[in-house]
Amino acid sequence: MKTIEHDGITYKIRSDGLVLNPNWEKPPRVRAWWYNETHAECGQCRQIKPKSEFSPKKRGGRNCDPRCRECNNEYQTNKRRALPLPLHAYRKYKYSMRSEGNDCDLSFEEFLETHWPKDGRCPVLGWKFEHAPEGWTTSKVNPKKGGRQYPFIPSTDHIDPTKPLSKDNMWIISMRANEVKNDMLPQEIHLLSNAMKRLKGGLVSRHFFKEQELYRTQLKNKGYAGKGLEWEPKL
Ligand SMILES: [Zn+2]
Repeated sequence: MKTIEHDGITYKIRSDGLVLNPNWEKPPRVRAWWYNETHAECGQCRQIKPKSEFSPKKRGGRNCDPRCRECNNEYQTNKRRALPLPLHAYRKYKYSMRSEGNDCDLSFEEFLETHWPKDGRCPVLGWKFEHAPEGWTTSKVNPKKGGRQYPFIPSTDHIDPTKPLSKDNMWIISMRANEVKNDMLPQEIHLLSNAMKRLKGGLVSRHFFKEQELYRTQLKNKGYAGKGLEWEPKL
């Protein structure tokens, strides 16, 4: 097992490339034995609940997890929150690469060297990266589904939204910056920013009209109106 040091944290890297979470020790195994046809005992909260409140498991007579869904969510969230932020971001990148059907093209060491912001801050908005506070995803104000993601958590962004994710098309920015940028192209960002300055009566630049025309023409030529939305340009 290889070890590397970064920001005072020692990471252990397995021979298959998996970087272990340095802040997580596997808790003692949860034992939950009691069950019948319809109900089972949760090894964490020790409550007896209907089996629909457990994740199903193929093996064993119980046919369900030792922890109920509620306890398991909490367990997984705690595990995630224990991850150092650079490792959290790297795992997100690996996961996104996999979900786009590609192999990860970056080792954790390379990621730290070339992609993780040295000051631990969002390069767009300047926020210091941090994990969501306890209870964020489960709170009623911010339910995970349909709710908002924590704005200061690091996220991987496709620099050019029209191209697949890769080490050359990825940077780490805060979730908030990612939400704001979404699938905008630089030309759209410029047009929006300039239009808002003009709205307030601000002076944009001597070249405003030239730039505006250039960016609009570039967008029309690309036929880009959002990710996956290509249209026939009406020039
Ligand atoms: Zn439970």
